[in-house]
Amino acid sequence: MKKNLLDLDAHALSAYFAEMGEKPFRARQLMRWIYREGESDFAAMTDIAAVLRNKLAQQACIVVPEILREELSDDGTRKWLLNVGTGNAVEAVYIPEARGTLCISSQAGCALDCSFCSTGKQGFNRNLSVAEIIGQLWWANHQLGRNAEGNWAISNVVMMGMGEPLLNYDNTVSALRLMLDDLGYGLSRRRVTVSTSGVVPAMDRLREDCPVALAVSLHAPNDALRDQLVPINQKYPLKALLAACRRYLERAPRDFITFEYVMLDGVNDTVQHAHELVRRVADTPCKFNLIPFNPFPQSPYQRSRPEAIQRFRDVLMQADIMTTTRKTRGDDIAAACGQLAGQVLDKTRRTTRIAFHK
Ligand code: SAH
Ligand code: SF4
Repeated sequence: MKKNLLDLDAHALSAYFAEMGEKPFRARQLMRWIYREGESDFAAMTDIAAVLRNKLAQQACIVVPEILREELSDDGTRKWLLNVGTGNAVEAVYIPEARGTLCISSQAGCALDCSFCSTGKQGFNRNLSVAEIIGQLWWANHQLGRNAEGNWAISNVVMMGMGEPLLNYDNTVSALRLMLDDLGYGLSRRRVTVSTSGVVPAMDRLREDCPVALAVSLHAPNDALRDQLVPINQKYPLKALLAACRRYLERAPRDFITFEYVMLDGVNDTVQHAHELVRRVADTPCKFNLIPFNPFPQSPYQRSRPEAIQRFRDVLMQADIMTTTRKTRGDDIAAACGQLAGQVLDKTRRTTRIAFHK
């Protein structure tokens, strides 16, 4: 089987070239072609000797997941459904705010089964490969092209799509390195965010291996409630999680953790919850991002009323905790947080396939 070069970060690509008896600078040349130029055809890599290009074409390839469907929301949000084989599909979402942000997936499904999340409801299928993770970014840049300054459209990446990135640790870290590498996408650490539901040991590893910005899905001010909403809390309860957040900050590119907090009507959104939360995070530098719950078929919750969200936010702000409410985007194409289910079976038949070619 041919080696997909998108599976290799800079270190692994150098090792691959060394094995072929090639010089390390060839690996750097190749990375520049793949990520800076967005090229996937060896024949077009004109500064590489024809002999090597032919050799590469025989034993290697540059392949991103096949795109099954592209959807465009009225608000400019775009969602791509990517085929990752054996009936599985994952989604990547482009959010065209001031700076182009891409929300990418790390797993097909998720094992953690948070009660408000549609990805969790479908169970765990498998980890995505490095090529499938970085391929989402490759594809989005390929589709969206470059901005006026000649840079790729995507300058922010959030790992907030399907799956728990820290439970696909090695592939996530290799993909993160490709995002940050100067010969890769050269993104700033501050503009690459990993979102986790709180896998404490992996947070400590990430702090050492590749400290990017960190978002933590908190969702509750106490263990009793968080145990229900985010079951991994039973293993890593709030005290341990918050301590891990503070340790992470010693190496983080930002001096705060972003706490995500899904607003569920009558469940975790009262003023009392907000006060309890303020006490709970008092010694952890943080910002809050309140996410109005996005319903999906058979979801057991309702979205909090706007007044409740406003009141909740006021309590946090009065305690000097910077708090934003996430704008619900891409509602009409089910591209909002927690709605990504990668439905493929019922919908693909109705859509035209987008050919993957320049
Ligand atoms: N597994 C990681 C990252 C993916 S989920 C995590 O849990 O952090 C990205 C964010 O969307 C998380 O904060 C998650 O709690 C939130 N989310 C999940 N389902 C949601 C829903 N139905 N409505 C709003 N936000 C949701
Ligand atoms: Fe998995 Fe995150 Fe969904 Fe929880 S919220 S089930 S951790 S994807």
